[in-house]
Amino acid sequence: ENEKRVLMVIFGGSGDLAHRKLYPALFELYLKGQLDQHFAVIGTARRPWTHDYFRQTVAENLQAGTAAQQQAFVGHFYYQSHDVQDADHYIILKKLIDTLDEQYQLHGNRIFYMAMRPALFGTIAAHLKSEHLLSASGFNRLIIEKPFGHDYQSALALNDAVISTFARDQVYRIDHYLGKEMVQNIPYLRFDNPLMAAVWNHDYIDNIQITLAEKLGVEERGGYYETAGALRDMVQNHIMQIIAMLAMPRPADNTDQAITAARREVFTHLHQYDATEIPRKFIRGQYGPSEDGQALGYRQEDKIDPKSNVETFVAGEIQLDLPQWQGVPFYVRTGKRLPLKKTRIDVVFKSAAQNLFGSETLAAPVLTIEVEPEMGLTWHLNAKEVGQSTSAIQRPLHFALSQTEAGQVPDAYERLILEAINGRRSNFVSWQDMSGAWQFIDGIRQVWEECQCPHFPNYPAGTMGPAASDQLLQASGRHWIFTN
Ligand code: NAD
Repeated sequence: ENEKRVLMVIFGGSGDLAHRKLYPALFELYLKGQLDQHFAVIGTARRPWTHDYFRQTVAENLQAGTAAQQQAFVGHFYYQSHDVQDADHYIILKKLIDTLDEQYQLHGNRIFYMAMRPALFGTIAAHLKSEHLLSASGFNRLIIEKPFGHDYQSALALNDAVISTFARDQVYRIDHYLGKEMVQNIPYLRFDNPLMAAVWNHDYIDNIQITLAEKLGVEERGGYYETAGALRDMVQNHIMQIIAMLAMPRPADNTDQAITAARREVFTHLHQYDATEIPRKFIRGQYGPSEDGQALGYRQEDKIDPKSNVETFVAGEIQLDLPQWQGVPFYVRTGKRLPLKKTRIDVVFKSAAQNLFGSETLAAPVLTIEVEPEMGLTWHLNAKEVGQSTSAIQRPLHFALSQTEAGQVPDAYERLILEAINGRRSNFVSWQDMSGAWQFIDGIRQVWEECQCPHFPNYPAGTMGPAASDQLLQASGRHWIFTN
């Protein structure tokens, strides 16, 4: 049987993340029978809610299932008003945990989920230990959300606080990009096709491009975004994790250990630039009002300093000091208020060294992986133009997930929560990867802070970013494959 036994304790159980992502994800697992009789959820937060009121707020955010299924599901939910600073509250929480463990026969399996400000993680972890909330039987796991620190030092402090209570292999750091269908598809594509495995290196690949475009601006998150910026918010985590999927050597096998070791190869071989190279290798932008005046500029948004120099766009070139990737740039870009929401990867293969048929229209073959919102893969190959012409044209070999398949794709949170319940760690971020990524990002940040900021705003809302983003690739005779 599939059914799992687990108690989830959610710190920040009244919050946005919990209601919008976590509870619907748990409900999907419930509808699919992964969770059935033997699970319970405790939501904790400061507000004095009743169990019933809490269940009502959970149910309001469920879209799937029947009303009866929703009611049965929320019957497993319990609320505990809790101030994370107050040791006595942990004693009360422990009583509820023990009662529910008994009532639902959970065998001491516990997942603690930190869905609140990271500043509070250390306090919570310390109290979980001092007040003995970890079970002696079963498993104890901790799931933590981004932002995991705002630089290497703060991430290290956060990590030290957490690992004083939880063993390293009990900590599950979520990066929801690792839960996306087409990101998880990358190793299948690379390692289960000998053809791909054979060409996945600097002999055949010219460069790899990763685009994480957001259509939205900062919305209500202005306060947070002012302390973060695109480099921390998107590059340090999501983009670096995608690079790891694209560039890691073949793992020895399908164990967490082997996959973690393979990914670590990438994070320990990020090429460190000289300070003088960084302004050429990493450029930044900030959106101004849209050309039609409909959308505000970043500096006009709510909770944003009108003189803010925080970047809402980054484009950069990442290199890996690994033999397989010598001379292959990984171009990355991400930004807010771009024309559309899209995550895609373009693997640009080398052009034919000799052009046998004298065609002037040969192009570099490109393999495009659409991560979202479309999910699919297209390989653009040179082919003969129909008829008497000697020209080449580019033909696409293409698959896209059908609507039915797309409908079966689990949400990233659903997938990752199940993996955490199963104790499968390979799609979570290890501390080594996290620290390697932070150190790399800090190097860029430092130089950016010392050198003069480009004149912001430097791209209008609704465009693909500043001109410097195109120039980054033009400097080596390349261009972005994806242009809107
Ligand atoms: P939120 O403000 O909606 O929720 C915060 C929760 O923490 C609330 O339940 C609040 O009551 C509780 N809380 C705050 N201080 C407390 C205290 N002293 N004692 C007890 N409870 C306290 O925030 P959110 O959007 O749910 O985000 C939570 C965390 O997850 C943040 O670190 C955020 O950056 C991260 N995150 C959120 C999302 C998202 O989609 N919302 C996505 C990724 C990461």
